[in-house]
Amino acid sequence: MIENLVVGAGVAGCVIANRLAQKNKQVLIVEKRNKIGGQAHDSYNKKNVLVHDYGPHIFHTDSEEVFKLLSEYTDWILYNHEVLGFIDNNFVPIPFNINSIAKLFPSEKGNKYIKNLISYFNYGEKITIWDLKNSSNEILKELAEYIYNKVFYNYTLKQWDCSPEQLDREVTSKVPVNISKDNRYFFDKYQMIPAEGYTTMFRKMIEMDNISLLLNTDFKDILSIKNGDFKLYETIRVKNIFYTAPIDYFFDFEFGKLPYRSLKFKHETYSRKYYQQNAVINYPNNYDFTRVTEFKHITKQKTPFTTIAKEYPQKCNLEDGDIPYYPIPKRDNREIYYKYSAKVKRMKNFYPVGRLAQYEYLNMTQAIENALKTVAKL
Ligand code: FAD
Repeated sequence: MIENLVVGAGVAGCVIANRLAQKNKQVLIVEKRNKIGGQAHDSYNKKNVLVHDYGPHIFHTDSEEVFKLLSEYTDWILYNHEVLGFIDNNFVPIPFNINSIAKLFPSEKGNKYIKNLISYFNYGEKITIWDLKNSSNEILKELAEYIYNKVFYNYTLKQWDCSPEQLDREVTSKVPVNISKDNRYFFDKYQMIPAEGYTTMFRKMIEMDNISLLLNTDFKDILSIKNGDFKLYETIRVKNIFYTAPIDYFFDFEFGKLPYRSLKFKHETYSRKYYQQNAVINYPNNYDFTRVTEFKHITKQKTPFTTIAKEYPQKCNLEDGDIPYYPIPKRDNREIYYKYSAKVKRMKNFYPVGRLAQYEYLNMTQAIENALKTVAKL
């Protein structure tokens, strides 16, 4: 018998396997790809530049527990993430803040906006674009229209293929408007990058005698479910399944497909020290790509070459092999998800965890916290 089968060797899968193995449990991980780390996977390219294969990943958490756990498997590079947006021919801080206003408007107009912002809200507050749009102050409403059109509207069209109004409001609210001059993107207590990269950190996490890893294997090729029992290769009983792959796929899309957005990255490598001034620059209103990432700013790697990634949002067709990047947060989709989760509640020994199994945008620390909670519940 296999006591614990973990489907997927991404962030959640590796943490679950590690925690179970630490409790002297035997674990088998089955991973569809030929590599571990899931969306956080990183690798060295031909010019020896460390790149994040599925888009820039910045580790940030307020959780002491998560930070301590990962620190057992990595040293860290301190890194404060700052993003710029190319707006009206200027590079301005995103999330939009007082510095962005000062850069974009003539001083008299800018000062009027700043004065009204500070008197209507509190200095240091993070508000949503909806808070600003709904304010009763006419000057702030005018500013809200500007920010909405220049920062949110076109970016959302490119990213999600619909307007901000057509998505759950939380999506747009994830990027606040900051009533301060603090240009940081994240405000968590810990913000850092694994010194040798994410893949190395996760590899160390699962390099344990009681963890086996099967790569290049879709779990459906080896797992069968009959009368509520899980079996590998039709004969070996599996007790617990920790499932981090798409939840609708597990149930053969019984209640319909859960839609995703996908991304394509175009990597370019240059023989120069740096390409741009920041790790990430957003282009809400220009070009087909949404943003350009330069990895060396994040990894602090010292090499004569630099690699950038231009990020192009795409439709996601799983049959064509597209990678599901983002669950699409809309009511209809959530209703489909609830049908799957109701079915899961009636099952025994089946634990869906992570962004694909919970059909939710989770950052790494949230995925890890959910993994830890699941193991703790056993
Ligand atoms: P995944 O990492 O997707 O792991 C799931 C694993 O399951 C994958 O390895 C997959 O191959 C495997 N799998 C799928 N189907 C099967 C199958 N049928 N059989 C076997 N295996 C299967 N978070 C942050 O904290 N900071 C960031 O800066 C950040 N940036 C991001 C940027 C982008 C572009 C995206 C898309 C996400 C970003 N995230 C970031 C979120 C982060 O990627 C997730 O939190 C993390 O990947 C969640 O891990 P997971 O294990 O749930 O899912």
